[in-house]
Amino acid sequence: MNPKQIFYKTQAETIIQHLEKRRMKGYYCPTCADALKTAMSLTASGSTVSFGGSMTLMETGILDALKNRTDLHLIDRSLARTPEEIKQAYRDSFHTDTYFLSTNAITMDGQLVNVDGNGNRVAALIYGPDQVIVVTGMNKVVSTVEDAVRRIKTIASPPNCIRLNRKTPCAATGMCADCLGDDCICSQTVITRRSGIAGRIKVLLVGETLGY
Ligand code: SF4
Repeated sequence: MNPKQIFYKTQAETIIQHLEKRRMKGYYCPTCADALKTAMSLTASGSTVSFGGSMTLMETGILDALKNRTDLHLIDRSLARTPEEIKQAYRDSFHTDTYFLSTNAITMDGQLVNVDGNGNRVAALIYGPDQVIVVTGMNKVVSTVEDAVRRIKTIASPPNCIRLNRKTPCAATGMCADCLGDDCICSQTVITRRSGIAGRIKVLLVGETLGY
């Protein structure tokens, strides 16, 4: 292992201890391949699964693997053809056995910090699916909740706005202007400091740079 890999592993071990105190379960996955293997092993055959929009799920190969599994009932809103079907897919996601998402940031003491525009992703994180699997690259580790919010506004949201073709100040200038316009993707800020149901939230810490 090179020094960066050792650093990521050491950081992850500390975070996992803190996640445990917060009734969440952490796993360190050195590579995307390890994360994919762990994610699939946690997804039972015959179960119902959904996911939030995430570059990390794409980059790890988890999204493709879920779509390719024939033993799952996958709720995939990208297949919805009408606004009604999209709305139904969002609602059905709350009744799943497993919901996948990434996090915008995770603190060294095990708190997840997410900012969401629509709110469906953070809503499912908070309540609904029996199991929530959070997949994150170690590039999203920060020291404090304040650092997490700063990271989201300066590093995560601007490229996400560009990806989603949103007409926001951060997409135009690279800098957050605390906007409130129609295209803003920063509606809800959710800090998950504890899981109400022990073990419901599982966090896969991947020793690679993933997502925004
Ligand atoms: S400019 Fe708006 S969308 Fe962009 S990071 Fe700031 S609040 Fe979020």
